[in-house]
This record gives sequence, structure tokens and C-alpha cells, in this order.
Amino acid sequence: MESQMMDFPLTLSHLFDRAGRYFAKTELVSRRPDKSIHRTTWGDFHVRAQKLANALQRLGVKRGDRVATLGWNHSRHLETYFGIPLMGGVLHTLNPRLSGQDLAYIMNHAEDAVLLVDDVLLPVWERFKHEVHPKHVVVWSNGAAVPAGMLDYEQLIEGELGSFTPVTLDEKEPAGICYTSGTTGRPKGVVYSHRSMVLHAMSAALPDSLGLSQTSVVLPVVPMFHVNAWGLPFTCAMVGAKVVFPGPHLDALSVLQLMEEEKVTCAAGVPTVWIAILDALDKEPKRWNVSSVKQMVVGGSAAPQAMIEGFQKRHGLAVLHAWGMTEMSPIGTVSRLKAGMQGLPDSEQFRRRAMQGVAVPLVEVRAVSEAGEVPWDGKSMGELHVRGPFIAKSYFGNAAEADKFTMDGWFRTGDVVTIDSEGFVRITDRSKDLIKSGGEWISSVDLENALMGHPAVKEAAVVAVAHPKWDERPVACVVLRDGAKATDEELREYLSPLFAKFQMPDAFVFMQTIPRTAAGKFLKTALREQLKDFKLQT
Ligand code: ADP
Repeated sequence: MESQMMDFPLTLSHLFDRAGRYFAKTELVSRRPDKSIHRTTWGDFHVRAQKLANALQRLGVKRGDRVATLGWNHSRHLETYFGIPLMGGVLHTLNPRLSGQDLAYIMNHAEDAVLLVDDVLLPVWERFKHEVHPKHVVVWSNGAAVPAGMLDYEQLIEGELGSFTPVTLDEKEPAGICYTSGTTGRPKGVVYSHRSMVLHAMSAALPDSLGLSQTSVVLPVVPMFHVNAWGLPFTCAMVGAKVVFPGPHLDALSVLQLMEEEKVTCAAGVPTVWIAILDALDKEPKRWNVSSVKQMVVGGSAAPQAMIEGFQKRHGLAVLHAWGMTEMSPIGTVSRLKAGMQGLPDSEQFRRRAMQGVAVPLVEVRAVSEAGEVPWDGKSMGELHVRGPFIAKSYFGNAAEADKFTMDGWFRTGDVVTIDSEGFVRITDRSKDLIKSGGEWISSVDLENALMGHPAVKEAAVVAVAHPKWDERPVACVVLRDGAKATDEELREYLSPLFAKFQMPDAFVFMQTIPRTAAGKFLKTALREQLKDFKLQT
């Protein structure tokens, strides 16, 4: 017997047409570099993205060709998210915070045919332009003349037809490529298909995932060059949400102002952004009315429990903790309390909300140790493996990393976790960041989380330092809040009821800032390098 269902390809053009047809009047708001506000709608966007698709064809872009972008979050950038895949091209977002060397490596590796770049990011382009060879460079100008030899985006699309004759695409054809930020070695390319992006959008929108709909007003603080802003542009097009783009202004005051003025219901970003916002709200609790905000999605690195509690208890704002990876499109788990858990004591509720949470639909998880799959008891640790239709099965042109993909069809995340009987995943560390002391594992994430609960501590990162007797011992790098004071002794006293003696940091190093990756995560490789000659007491 055969099923009687249509063979209907899951392509992005379906999401695109839905946004244009059903939500034509819904707004897309962008903050420009000069802080002025630009407003358009899904309806206008639908026309302009088709003009872009026509223009790219005219420039000679062929099916499967990569088209790169180097831009902040704004609605013209969004046009490439659909205009490129619509004509069979592959969207390749570049992270302007990377070094010129990394950007050149990534562009050459992907063989990008065309580059679209923000005028304000032209200085970044200058740093590596001599090492790469796109056929065309197109500039998103904010008024200034475009440099000689480059094309002006508005002029490029101006004369084109606002309707595009669809290319019939197979759902498995590539639609986008992203490179991991390289905290774990050379950047690695992940190629998404139309099908994987559509299924990710469906899964992400669900009520128990991000819970987005046409009544949502979404502020992606997470940059569009970081795993496609967690897929939010595709999810928002599918459900017809209003989208608010912050442009280059990602500081706490600018974000809070946008949240208030545009009546944002859901904002998403990495913990650094939210730590700064919590600080601003604590200093001036009455300055902003952000009562429209229903949830703030935090992911990319662990959201400290103290931050989740601080937002909820002091400002009535709900943080939704999510975990994911570039290789997963990226959302893997979301930490929402299950039915019945609302009755748990406060402390237990916050403990759960600070976990990475439960796998979203279409993602399967398991934790594996040297002895095999570990039980879901909340105690046994293992490396997290994942599988599903929006998870990579290999890297683009990189056979060296083949061991990340198991023979039985799972992706090895490199994160060390426990999973409890409710299915809640808790990351204890990345495998390379775990600290091994006298044969026992110490979780740097647990220590960081606890330290960030101390009122004087703004940020904390814990790394292993070599020790002659114990092999490795934890050292805590601490940034204090402006004007706050704390001594080693106070921090040690604060931690001691929470940790076993062998887990306590051997030393505290006070710093002005903690080095970060281009994606805003603690750069532990740099910290380890800084501390490599650090002498611990024996
Ligand atoms: P990279 O692998 O280059 O750092 P990604 O952005 O893909 O780039 O990062 C994925 C990793 O980030 C995960 O494997 C995990 O270690 C970390 N991560 C992401 N979200 C969370 C989270 N909510 N809690 C803890 N770690 C997280």
C-alpha cells in the first residue's frame, strides 16, 4: 500500500508567501545606525525580496551558489534571508566580530559569489578584501555614496520586477550555510536545507518551544549572523509576527527603549545582553515600562540562575532558557516547567528553569559515557548526543571532523550533561572545559553559576590550571559590579555551603573584563593561556 498524500516540498517559499499574503500589513521595524527608526511591512518586504531574487539572477548567481552577507539586524538583511534561497542561492551570513583572517578563511572555504555588506561595516570588509574574490560587492547604504567598484543595493533592485518566477526546488537543496564560531577549532560549515529550515521554524514556534504567533512582537537581539538569529526570521515569517530589528545598537539602554516603544512581547539574546539589561533595570527600575514583554529567550551559553531569579523577582520578567548549536539550526532544548511543576517550591522551579530543558519536537537526545548510554537519573554524566531532521549529518568540506557523527546516526555535541527522569537536560560543561582534579570531575558551569549569584559579582568564568598533585584545579576569574567590593575570603565563604571541598576554586583572579568569542561567549582558551604560568599553592 502507498500513502495518498501529496509530494509537497517543504521549501522556504511557502513561509515567504504566507507572510506576504496573510500578514501584509504587519510591521517590520528597524533601527538604523543613526538610531532613527525605519518601518516597512511583510507586504512591502514580499515585493522587495522578489526584486532581489531577480537582481541576483541578473548578476549571474546560479542555483547552489553562495551569497554572503555582512550586516547587522535590519529588514534589508531579512530580504536576503528569502530572496537568496527563493532563487536557489545559499544564504551565507558572516560574523563581523571575527578576525579578518577567519572571515577570509570562511569566505574562501564557502566560495561566496556575491557579498552584501552594511556601509557601517565596510571597515571590516577592508580588513580582508584582498584575500577574497566575490564577483560582486553590494552595499546597504544608509545615505552615503557607495564606494567605486561596488553596487548600491537600492539601485540594484530598483528596476526589477516585484514578482519572481519560482524555481522549482527540491526540499533537500541547500538554503543556507553558517560557520560555527570556532571556540572549538577552525570554523566549520553547516549547510541547512529548505526542509530543515521549515521544520525548525515549525518546531521553534510551538507553544512549549518559543510560543510565537501572529500576535507576537519579536525582538531578535541575537544577531542575524549568529545561526540565522536562531532561525527567528523564518519562524516569524511563518507565523506572521511583527519583528523589531535593533540594527547595530545592542547596549542595554537601546534594547530597553525598543522593547518599550515597540511593545515587544518576546526578545532573544545571549546571557551577556541580559546581564547588562538586568543591571540597567536594577539601577533604574521605574525608567522603562516593559510590561508588554512576556518572555526573554536566553541561550548561547548558560543563563545563570541568579539572573533568571533577578528578572522574575525584582521586575516580574520571565526568562526562557534555551540550548542549541549551529549544527542544530540551532534550537535543541527549551526549559519550560511541565504541568504540575508550578506547584513546586520557588527554589526548585528556578533550579529547573536554569537547566537547559526538554528537547523540542523532532529532536532526540541521549547521554553517553565510556560505558555506554547513561540512565536518565539526573546524576549520571555523559556526552550529549542528538539527532533529528534539522541536525547536521556532516560538515561542509571537512572530513577531519567526521568523528563528531556516530556510526549509528547521532551528532556528538561535546557538551557533558545529566538528564533527569522528566527529560530535563542539564549541561555541566563542554567536554574540553571540564576540570579533572585527582580523578574527579568538577563542573566549571556550576561554579560560575553560583558565583554569579553573589551580589558583588557581575561575571565569572572558571578554568582549569595545571597542578602538580591534582593534575588540574579550578581557578575563578571574576569581574565585580561597578563600585562593588568582594575579597577572596568572602567569595570562598559564599561558595562553601554549595560545594564539596575538592570542588572549591583554588584561587580567585579579579579582572576588568573576561575575554569573549565573536559570539559573546567566555573565551576559555584565552583565559587558560593567560593563567598558564599561574602558580597554585601546593
Ligand atoms: P561554538 O560551538 O562555536 O561555540 P555555537 O554557537 O554553535 O558555537 O555554540 C554551541 C554551544 O554553546 C553548545 O554546544 C553549548 O556548549 C553552548 N550553549 C548554547 N546554549 C547554551 C545554554 N543554554 N547553556 C549552556 N551552554 C549553551
